[in-house]
Amino acid sequence: MSIFRVSREKQRELKVLFSGRCEWCDREYPPPDLVLHLMVPETAKARAAPPSPDPQKRFLLLCQGCHQDLHQVPLPLHLQKDLVRARPRPLRKSVREIFGYTPEPYQPPGDFDLAEIYEDCFSLRSLDLFRAGG
Ligand SMILES: [Zn+2]
Ligand SMILES: [Zn+2]
Repeated sequence: MSIFRVSREKQRELKVLFSGRCEWCDREYPPPDLVLHLMVPETAKARAAPPSPDPQKRFLLLCQGCHQDLHQVPLPLHLQKDLVRARPRPLRKSVREIFGYTPEPYQPPGDFDLAEIYEDCFSLRSLDLFRAGG
């Protein structure tokens, strides 16, 4: 699998873009206290598949504490993806701009997309429950 690299320069831009906010606890931190967590598929099969071309879907910006927790628990990947989905549209767009990525204008419908739409509708609620349960 290809390794997703983010230069220091881009990391700095991302931290500014996210206003120094951790995507999990939603608190503000100085840039050195924030880390870019790269999302890695959980199964060997998923890891063998080509990763999403959208760089926006491949990382989370977290504070040191949340990042450590995420690896220790560990937080299931579908919940990590929920955090990505919860990003406001303009933010997603700006992230893609930082990486110079332009999404394909036409996405053919398929099973995968349907599954994703389904998750969009239903799993944000489970994320809230997860968070509330602490
Ligand atoms: Zn945090
Ligand atoms: Zn990490």
